[in-house]
Amino acid sequence: MSELAVPADASGLDAPLERVLGKPTAKGLATLGLTTVGDLLRHYPRRYVEPGERTSIADLEVGAHVTVVAQVERATVRTMRARSGAILSVVVTDGSRSLDLSFFARHAGALRPHESRLVPGRLAQFSGTVSEYRGALQLTHPDYEVIEDAEGLGEMPPTPIYPATAQMPSWKTARAVRAVLPALVDGLPEPVPFEVRARRGLMSLPDAIRTVHAPATVADAYRARRTLRFEEALVLQTELARRRHAALALSAVPRPRAEGPSLLADLDARLPFDLTAGQVEVGDEIAADLGRAHPMQRLLQGDVGSGKTLVALRAMLQVVDAGGQAVLLAPTEVLAQQHHRTLTALLGPLAEGGLLGGDERATRVALLTGSLGAAATREALLDAASGRAGIVVGTHALLSERVQFADLGLVVVDEQHRFGVEQRDTLRTRGDDVPHMLVMTATPIPRTVAMTVFGDLEVSTLTEVPQGRAGITSHVVWADRPAWVQRVWQVAREHVDRGERVFVVCPRITGDDATSDGADLLDDLAAQLGGGTSSGASSPDGVAAGSTGAGTPPARRAVEDVVRELEGMPVLGGAAIGTLHGRMPSDERDRAMAAFLEGRTQVLVATTVIEVGVDVPLATVMVILDADVFGISQLHQLRGRVGRGTLPGTCFFVTRAEEGSDAAQRLTHLAGTTDGFELALLDLSVRREGDVLGASQSGGASSLRLLRVVKDADLIAEAREEATDLVAADPTLAAFPALAAAVEARLRGVETAFLDRG
Ligand code: ADP
Ligand code: MG
Repeated sequence: MSELAVPADASGLDAPLERVLGKPTAKGLATLGLTTVGDLLRHYPRRYVEPGERTSIADLEVGAHVTVVAQVERATVRTMRARSGAILSVVVTDGSRSLDLSFFARHAGALRPHESRLVPGRLAQFSGTVSEYRGALQLTHPDYEVIEDAEGLGEMPPTPIYPATAQMPSWKTARAVRAVLPALVDGLPEPVPFEVRARRGLMSLPDAIRTVHAPATVADAYRARRTLRFEEALVLQTELARRRHAALALSAVPRPRAEGPSLLADLDARLPFDLTAGQVEVGDEIAADLGRAHPMQRLLQGDVGSGKTLVALRAMLQVVDAGGQAVLLAPTEVLAQQHHRTLTALLGPLAEGGLLGGDERATRVALLTGSLGAAATREALLDAASGRAGIVVGTHALLSERVQFADLGLVVVDEQHRFGVEQRDTLRTRGDDVPHMLVMTATPIPRTVAMTVFGDLEVSTLTEVPQGRAGITSHVVWADRPAWVQRVWQVAREHVDRGERVFVVCPRITGDDATSDGADLLDDLAAQLGGGTSSGASSPDGVAAGSTGAGTPPARRAVEDVVRELEGMPVLGGAAIGTLHGRMPSDERDRAMAAFLEGRTQVLVATTVIEVGVDVPLATVMVILDADVFGISQLHQLRGRVGRGTLPGTCFFVTRAEEGSDAAQRLTHLAGTTDGFELALLDLSVRREGDVLGASQSGGASSLRLLRVVKDADLIAEAREEATDLVAADPTLAAFPALAAAVEARLRGVETAFLDRG
């Protein structure tokens, strides 16, 4: 990618708050994650309170910390007789009621500054804790801020309300912002070029920042926010436009579909079913891409069970037929192993390259994961490096430097939401040839999201699932109703008796610690942060939690406890119960999966390691315990594990959430629909774009503060147009140094966050 033309000096925005505002204030602001002046200016109010909506004096309650805007009626200083000292009594009014304020001092002189500011007629904002004295409410030593150019209560500007912490209430933040605003705001670099601002009717950045913090009216504030949202969108879209632009300059080895006999034709001939119309159509799109001298960058989206694996296999075979190799990357070991099994089974003799009885054109499918033994690893590495394996399946281990390919032509990434953009790039930039790239995701992505998050990819969609799927019914089960829970296990029993399998999913592995599920789950978390929390569940610790500090909800169900419990249940008597979680060694996990697949165990108690893609045709029941801690799309994926064959599936979301709570409503909604697209929208509409981009891209300098992917679709589209034009005309952004710097800062933030995670 071409280097950006970033100016060297950063301006005073990097100045530490401690130097500018002093230690106590800086300490408070640090609790909000703000450390520099730039951070503070970009810490936008959450909302605004109009004068009419402010706490009125009539509503004050003793003991509450309040902020009221009021006008001084009278102020008198008295010397106290009982105690030595002086008191300044001020009576203020909000227009209908009055309130007493008292300031104490050793002598009257010390009260003079207050007296001179709080003269009758002055408007000010007073903050303090309400107390009662002789039957009247009062504030003692309130903090206050005189409002300079307001004539009367009617002309008051709206009050910005900032996200607050215990140490840093909104009004303190407001005061800090006001302190830095005048000096710095005019020097702000302006990422959005002038012409773009003019064309899109946007404010200048200094105006927008000033207005968002200190608007004259709420309408002004929202105009400013639109400008700031556009800025966020433009910076992101410029980054993506640069990726697209850079990709245009890359070349790839064309791997056109073979004309005559081929592995691909052989596979098609031996499939026990017909391809769906969608698989044919998408397959043709991919085939055409692979034939170009330019790397394919395509996203394949399709709901759980839509048959993406086969589409990927057909693409991989086309590349193998053309003399190249393909890798299939999976997010977890369990899934990599399963893909290996699936591909090998689909290919049959076509995967027996070099073996007696193998097909003449046959290739090999190598498996390469982090936990292979030394010998197996050496063998797989050799298969990859020699080109003997046309297809290599693996986990992140494949990203390690040791892995060499004879001629890598295609990279398939399964379940994109687990892979950051950075990881995709790792593979892409290795070696001289740029391989073609196919990214698959089971979380359907609305167009604007695809455009935003995967802005550098073309998108193909599988809209149908293969015929003959029996489908799935979901139910919400309240954990505090024993009869319901009992019924769940009865149903499980009935299915076991019919020779079917039951999944039981728990958020945690053991009852006594806070760990959930290993490295895989860290990625899950990254992907699920938004879904698990912002969609309504109240605790931000989501899946990871299990900490049992005071005030936290009861510990979440753990695999080990649940296994013991189920083993002791008469209703499940005789059923063989297995365990699967990320802390088991991988050979043990493999055995557990195999036992379940073959029916030696009938009930599998697991963590979310089973979430993605695991295929057990006879699995018909899915019981998810503490379902409310998972995100919507994660739950949808989980239940996609059952009802995949010809047998109908049943899913139970067991929850301790209160009936009627947000979390419970989410589950009820989920139980009511299996339309992955609708659910993805439901999920995304409550997320911020930063969450959608994955945890590695939210937080820090890179975080998007105001933009929302679903709500801001139009604005994102506009920003995309502008970004594309800007980058086409000026790829290094030499004429737009501030934009270049903003893009660079974003990338830097992403990188740092990414490294922090690793
Ligand atoms: P996903 O899109 O969730 O990855 P898979 O690729 O795992 O879905 O496919 C789910 C199941 O459907 C697999 O067992 C696969 O063999 C089967 N399948 C794929 N394509 C078809 C088809 N055209 N007709 C019938 N079954 C199919
Ligand atoms: Mg899959």
